[in-house]
Amino acid sequence: MNKEYDVIIVGAGPAGCSAAISLARRGCEILLLEKEGFPRGKVCGDGIGPPALEVLERLGILSAVRQNNPWKIEGLEISSPAGQILTVPFFHLKSPCPFGLVIPRREFDFLLSQQVRKYRNLEILENWEVKDFIGANGNFKGVRAQCEGQKEEFFGKVLIGSDGAYSVVARKLVYREREVHPAAFGLRAYFRGVKDINHRIEIHCDRSILPGYGWLFPTGEDSANVGVGIGARHLRGKNIRNLFRAFVERNPFVNERLRDATMVQNSLQGGPIPAGSFFRRRYRKNVLLVGDAGGFTDVLTGEGIYFALRSGECAAEAIHAAFNAQGGMERVGKIYESLWRSSLPRWEFLYGSLLKRLILREFFLNRNIARALKKPSMARDLASILCHEKSKIALLF
Ligand SMILES: Cc1cc2nc3c(=O)[nH]c(=O)nc-3n(C[C@H](O)[C@H](O)[C@H](O)COP(=O)(O)OP(=O)(O)OC[C@H]3O[C@@H](n4cnc5c(N)ncnc54)[C@H](O)[C@@H]3O)c2cc1C
Repeated sequence: MNKEYDVIIVGAGPAGCSAAISLARRGCEILLLEKEGFPRGKVCGDGIGPPALEVLERLGILSAVRQNNPWKIEGLEISSPAGQILTVPFFHLKSPCPFGLVIPRREFDFLLSQQVRKYRNLEILENWEVKDFIGANGNFKGVRAQCEGQKEEFFGKVLIGSDGAYSVVARKLVYREREVHPAAFGLRAYFRGVKDINHRIEIHCDRSILPGYGWLFPTGEDSANVGVGIGARHLRGKNIRNLFRAFVERNPFVNERLRDATMVQNSLQGGPIPAGSFFRRRYRKNVLLVGDAGGFTDVLTGEGIYFALRSGECAAEAIHAAFNAQGGMERVGKIYESLWRSSLPRWEFLYGSLLKRLILREFFLNRNIARALKKPSMARDLASILCHEKSKIALLF
């Protein structure tokens, strides 16, 4: 029989790499399987907020990321449907990293995959797609993977599914073939020659996209990631490409600055955003789901990198605890569940789901942005809410 790894991880995005590094540091033997070859792109806004930077610092990766010349973010600008613009600074945040970074995922994920290679007890296989699973009595035993026609079986004691929004691990092992549909979709493109770039990310609550929004995240002195995102329910009967075109051509904060800019060839791409959920199942027996595979995203903004990195850390901690406890493997899922619930802002999934119907509306946005322009403490609160230092409930007051 082939070697048995302590942990097999499917998918080397932020969630998989975070889990892999956290486990490798604890001395586990790990196999990380990735279906693509790095560097590879991933549709994203490329914005990494302060809490995610804290995790990167803990993983020992932040300095490598910063050496890669990401664009530093000192706050955000949010425009209301009525056309008022609010500046939200980050400098007062409690975080030891009170700033954000924008770095294209092609570069960020490549960098993560390089960091993973530093650990001898961590084997990463690129271009290997996991197709199926081997199990007994509902327990995971191994995976069947394929690379350019070559088929192989790999065995492990625990499986982490970090294979993104359309996770095969989630569908086959945790949800038993039930499809989990994405909550939202986004479409983005990279532009060069963008005017008036500063050190703030921009969120535009454009009337034509509500209850979704458009964004312009600077990636350099004259370049940006520009996109639109909207809930799947609200996309019915609409074409996201038309929403994107309307945003780029008609939004008053964006159109002038993109007038002489060029869209990077083939960069207009769309992707799914899974539903961030309080109730969703994130494990079954010795199979744990992290990142998008487990539905760890911010319900209001679609932010997922922080949740991916943090849930990866939680899974690693849970597995380590289970390995070191008598009969711990039986309880690994429960340990993980209680760890992520105490480490991630779990109630925010619930509040976000309830509040989004109210918040992402024209009246609410116009009224609150107008109020915040008169009351700077509201802008500071908004930064704390978006960076998970304060509950979303505060948006109501
Ligand atoms: C349009 C858009 C904009 C976004 N903007 C932001 C943003 O600005 N900031 C932010 O924080 N979040 C953003 N997000 C969310 C963020 O991109 C995700 O939450 C994040 O990538 C989740 O990381 P992950 O590691 O869980 O999954 P992924 O990044 O999707 O990685 C999954 C990995 O698994 C691999 N894989 C899949 N199936 C298999 C298989 N069968 N076998 C082997 N490997 C497999 C994939 O190739 C991939 O490398 C955005 C999402 C979208 C769609």
